[in-house]
Amino acid sequence: MKLLRYGPPGEERPGLLDDQGVIRDLSAHVEDIGPDQLSPQALKRLAAIDPAGLPVVPGAPRHGPPVKGVGKFLAIGLNFADHAAESGASVPEEPIVFTKATSCIQGPDDAVMIPRDSIKTDWEVELGVVIGTTARYVEEAEALNHVAGYVLINDLSEREFQLERGGSWDKGKGCDTFGPIGPWLVTADEVDDVQTLGMWLDVNGTRMQTGNTDTMVFGVAALVSYVSRFMALHPGDVITTGTPPGVGMGQKPSPIYLKAGDTIRLGIDGLGEQNQTVSAYRP
Ligand code: ZN
Repeated sequence: MKLLRYGPPGEERPGLLDDQGVIRDLSAHVEDIGPDQLSPQALKRLAAIDPAGLPVVPGAPRHGPPVKGVGKFLAIGLNFADHAAESGASVPEEPIVFTKATSCIQGPDDAVMIPRDSIKTDWEVELGVVIGTTARYVEEAEALNHVAGYVLINDLSEREFQLERGGSWDKGKGCDTFGPIGPWLVTADEVDDVQTLGMWLDVNGTRMQTGNTDTMVFGVAALVSYVSRFMALHPGDVITTGTPPGVGMGQKPSPIYLKAGDTIRLGIDGLGEQNQTVSAYRP
């Protein structure tokens, strides 16, 4: 299933994408797509509905983030060996875990805003994991049973705030608009092998990032298990799992950063695409 939320910011309604790529309204069946709709039982109830019987949503509405009420938005740093190299960092022995403020979450195609006083705003295509059931101290072999599904994420980052302002990374990761999620939450049953997904990102039509989840240092099961040793993971929590090479900071001969008017397009196999326009800071 491809679950989604559509409509103006703050007024999104629940929906799904049917096999023909048509958005169907789910609001007769669920209030929203949030933590209460992500358990195996709740997803089974939704999967039992015949999409052909649901109202077609006309036009091309805005997509909101496909999950409402994300409690924790966690992220993994330097999880692709080739990206660590371009960042001048060594491959971590244990996953680097940091936090993106949930206030940065927005729809997949909403405009990205360069923060005030920023000169190093950068892009990162990433696979996001949405937790479906509470996970505490879970073993790697059990970890994927706690995953409701997967989402496409742009882990936007301000490199000066992240790396040159005395720590922690969080300063450069949670700025407003730095967390586009979606367009869909693709349920885990629809993803054959989460460790073989192609990923890509273009800036102004030029391919900048090309990667595959098969080159992650720590795979999804290992990450869910690892993080659950340090904090409980709850339904609706999101872990974004790191980016392949090709970020702006790693460009040769010199870094390239986002500026007002730039366009970003990114995608992961089976998880859809995002399209963002970059705007200057506005109060
Ligand atoms: Zn990242």
